[in-house]
Amino acid sequence: MFTDPSEAPNGILNTRRFGPAPQNPDPEEEIEVYTDGSCHGNGAADAKCGSGIWYGQDDDRNTSTKVGPPLPLTNNTGELIAVLESIQQNKSAKRLKIASDSQYTIEALTKHSQTWLSKGLIGVKNPEIVSAILGEILATSTEVRLRKVKGHSGDTGNDGADMLANAGANKTVPDKIDLTMSGVIRAMGAKTNSLTQAQAYRLMMRHKAVGERTRTTRMMTRTRAAIEASTGVDLPPETVWKSLRIRKKGTISQKFSVFAWKSLHEGHKIGVFWKHFKPERLICQPCNAPIEDLNHILTECRTSGQETIWKLAQRAWGATGLPWPEISLERILGVGNIVVKNDQGKVLEGRTRLLRIIVSESAYLAWLDRCEWRIGREQNPLRLHTKKEITAQWKSIIGRRFRIDWALTNKAAFGKRALRHAEVKRTWKGLTMANNDKMLRDDIFAEGVLVGNGGRACQRRPPGRNR
Ligand SMILES: [Zn+2]
Repeated sequence: MFTDPSEAPNGILNTRRFGPAPQNPDPEEEIEVYTDGSCHGNGAADAKCGSGIWYGQDDDRNTSTKVGPPLPLTNNTGELIAVLESIQQNKSAKRLKIASDSQYTIEALTKHSQTWLSKGLIGVKNPEIVSAILGEILATSTEVRLRKVKGHSGDTGNDGADMLANAGANKTVPDKIDLTMSGVIRAMGAKTNSLTQAQAYRLMMRHKAVGERTRTTRMMTRTRAAIEASTGVDLPPETVWKSLRIRKKGTISQKFSVFAWKSLHEGHKIGVFWKHFKPERLICQPCNAPIEDLNHILTECRTSGQETIWKLAQRAWGATGLPWPEISLERILGVGNIVVKNDQGKVLEGRTRLLRIIVSESAYLAWLDRCEWRIGREQNPLRLHTKKEITAQWKSIIGRRFRIDWALTNKAAFGKRALRHAEVKRTWKGLTMANNDKMLRDDIFAEGVLVGNGGRACQRRPPGRNR
């Protein structure tokens, strides 16, 4: 972490990217937060300590955390936890700018961190939290920047964070704070300083792998089981990760990779994520579902448009003459490894590629529509996406993927990595016009064909009907 890129020390704090990262970083993925800590009765055993992260006025990402023992209950603890959690919350952002009024926090993380690491954090205050922050920075692809703001000077963001920190301190039950990365950094000890970041990352992953059974392992196990059901092969986790990271032949989009990567880490702020501090967000209210988890969003929910989307997908797949696989969350996340075979058990390359494209794009659209409704449309039940909107979106997305495929055959532009014409034809066979490989079939992809009564809004359906 550094306040100015030119100040970045060698090696460890450089922000080399890991995992799938946006190819064309969207400027929106730059996130700015204000952090603050609060402590009434600084240092006392019964002190009330809290952290606040402020994104904007009434932003539902705004976070109040109550810090409890065994962490020291001090102002500085509150300040550091706010920084830690803001990094944990924004692992998919390209850049995270943190505004803090804490001189201590900024100096700890910019000026002193390198020396502290080289001494194994001995004699450092708050070593668990400082090392957890450094560990998170190492493990994320996000570029983290810290800037100092003046406290209590009428700055809206700083005041907002201050209020959230106070609210956190006043909560009754301490929140669970994830300090996993601290153990990682400390296990690496004094060697940390001389490691390249890539080495540090691999070490950290190994440490995690032998550590507790994480949420990631749980989701990975389920995903591997789905892949095994489809392919008959039990793939090691590395292969599954690799299928997301190495996007062979442009089959899976960068955005889907990032989404699936985060899903495998159970890193989305949905469902149980909210259990402790915003229980009303644990549920999916429109569907009356007890937990709004990813499985619900992608395969059951009324607000994500998933029902319409999967109908469109299944209908398009029908043109291949092959059976449509039942869609599950595990199939979606493991899509990079799922294969289509013929009756003789031979893998059909073109069909496999088409299924991966359709499933990944469809799932990602459901996710986007759900987020857009929750955040962009303020969860207004009168503003659910209509079937007509969803249908138009889906057709436009698949149509774009089709055009991208043909664009990828350009040898002059892509050289050895270009797709072969035959590959593209095999992929889309049955979905293109009989006399033109470069046009999708009107009856499947033309606007308005699939939806008779396209203007009808989903909200008129009785609650829970789609579940
Ligand atoms: Zn729902």
